[in-house]
Amino acid sequence: MEINSLVFSIDSKMKIKISDEVLKIIQKYKQDTKYSLEAGGIILGRYLWSEDVVIDYITVPMDNDKRKKYYFYRNKESHQAEIIKYWRESNGTCNYLGEWHTHPEDIPKPSKYDINQWKKIIKNAQYDNDYLLFLIAGKKQIKIWIGYQDNLNIKELLIYKNKGDKNAKNSR
Ligand SMILES: [Zn+2]
Repeated sequence: MEINSLVFSIDSKMKIKISDEVLKIIQKYKQDTKYSLEAGGIILGRYLWSEDVVIDYITVPMDNDKRKKYYFYRNKESHQAEIIKYWRESNGTCNYLGEWHTHPEDIPKPSKYDINQWKKIIKNAQYDNDYLLFLIAGKKQIKIWIGYQDNLNIKELLIYKNKGDKNAKNSR
């Protein structure tokens, strides 16, 4: 089962694109068997002139993370080291954009726990913009939520469909 959703939109002018590279990595960690463990990590990317955002790097589970079917604990130090490495490689052009994790369900929905965690992250993390992105990869679909710093509101992003794009309609 392929995940096809690539571009999301917040409003008519701002789009969020997941790079093919990142999409491939997420595919690998999808919880599509009985035994798949939850995966997750950090989302990194770039702000473009157009206000669009490209997610072009994510950290993936590492040895000292804790993984269960419905649980993922990310070791802060090892993911942080990975961020710094990538930040240097990108000459400081990449930004911390948020977090991702997987769910063993077709269409992902955030749990109460997820929402609470996200709000904590919005309050406590250091980031350049006034929002963070939270991605959940289900078995058949990827969804992204945006969380705003000023009011802690969390909103689901829509899948952006380009008119005339034949690939746009296969996102089930
Ligand atoms: Zn979750």
